Amino acid sequence: MTEVRVRFAPSPTGMFHVGSARAALFNWAVAEQSGGRFILRIEDTDATRNRPEWTEGIISALDWIGINGTNPVFEGPYFQSANEPQHREAVAKLLADGKAYYCDCTRELLVARTGSEHKGYDGFCRDRGLTSGAVRFRTPDEGVTVVDDLVRGRVEFPNDAQEDFVIARTDGSPLYVLANAVDDITQAVTHVARGEEHLPNAVRQEMLWPALGANPPVWAHLPVIVNEQRKKLSKRRDKVALEDYRAEGYLAEAMVNYLMLLGWGPGDDREIMPWAEMVPLFKLEDVNSSNAFFDEKKLKAFNGEYIRALPLETFEERCLPYLDPSWDAETFSKLAPLAQTRLGVLSEIRQNVDFLFLDEPVFDQPSWDKAMKAGANDVLRAYLDRLDLVNWDTESLKTALEEVGTAHGLKLGKAQAPIRVAITGRTVGLPLFESIEVLGRERAQDRLRAALARLEG
Ligand code: GLU
Repeated sequence: MTEVRVRFAPSPTGMFHVGSARAALFNWAVAEQSGGRFILRIEDTDATRNRPEWTEGIISALDWIGINGTNPVFEGPYFQSANEPQHREAVAKLLADGKAYYCDCTRELLVARTGSEHKGYDGFCRDRGLTSGAVRFRTPDEGVTVVDDLVRGRVEFPNDAQEDFVIARTDGSPLYVLANAVDDITQAVTHVARGEEHLPNAVRQEMLWPALGANPPVWAHLPVIVNEQRKKLSKRRDKVALEDYRAEGYLAEAMVNYLMLLGWGPGDDREIMPWAEMVPLFKLEDVNSSNAFFDEKKLKAFNGEYIRALPLETFEERCLPYLDPSWDAETFSKLAPLAQTRLGVLSEIRQNVDFLFLDEPVFDQPSWDKAMKAGANDVLRAYLDRLDLVNWDTESLKTALEEVGTAHGLKLGKAQAPIRVAITGRTVGLPLFESIEVLGRERAQDRLRAALARLEG
């Protein structure tokens, strides 16, 4: 049996997109389950749009989601630009075999001949025997070209609708559609799984591969990823950079799990599944051809689940980048378990615990306005007095506030609001009485006094 060789071939022209990550993971799963190869090929031939930092970004983003050379199925990275001699050779061979020809038609000439801006190339230079110009591939006039796609099924493209497409510019530089096919052939790729936007390339490549003496690969064109408005996820509209999710405190494991479910599922209703369980089940044939909705809320819920599954110590470690180095680790540890059950993303840790470490809480004005309604000062003052003598434990702190509430005709929830804002600066956060307990008597009282002063101007 021939070895399964898949590839992931990103162009380093921007931040690494979640859709690219999904394509990479699908390929990675195929390589891993078959003990084949996953080739990373950086398609860096568009010198005007490529930047080295994008290449580094791709490599580090892949590494983050577990795609790297520590696994022997990984091969590369290769750089497409290094293969230009092979691309040129392929063009020369197609010319020599009569499968391609030179063309010197300008756009204006073509439009003048066909009478339309939109018509494809009319084949004018096919038999002119030119020896220079752009190079066009001679497409068949009749019949159909079939792209037999694992995801989309058998797609037929009538050949009379295919123009003789350009494979090299007048200056001899090969075009992407050709370079991509030549690299796949030289790298002995067996399966091409990539975004659906490449389907038009697949038709041309289905013709190019045999012309270059190779059997076309197995194709799998992956569904488009859309946002809540069912529009294609785009970097102008949506948060698409994997790096941004990482910075916000998404765990790689959660991200991987979620991305794998964009167009694929294990066939039962399981959703939270570790990578190792998904790999043996994954099949390109099972990928759905309809658009996949990238649901940020669901992703966040997944992430929360993965955060809760971390050993407490690991959770604390993962929070460190979001905390100030000067903040006392022991104090943080006291509230960490409560935070762990509540976070959707790790970066939220900061707003949950900063009140413990700052001299003054960060007052969020809408929270303040909402909590400090008429009568709030009475509650603050009464609780402040109670804190003089109360036993310093969660239960007693709570009972004390319940009693203050009763005296003012308020349920606990209502009585909590001004206290919470005075202590933490916000209306939502970790359980209040634990927070007060960890903060300590003196500091808690100082905060209530400060809030009163602020309220009463
Ligand atoms: N370089 C192409 C892209 O980034 C991928 C082409 C392919 O996978 O064949 O869209």
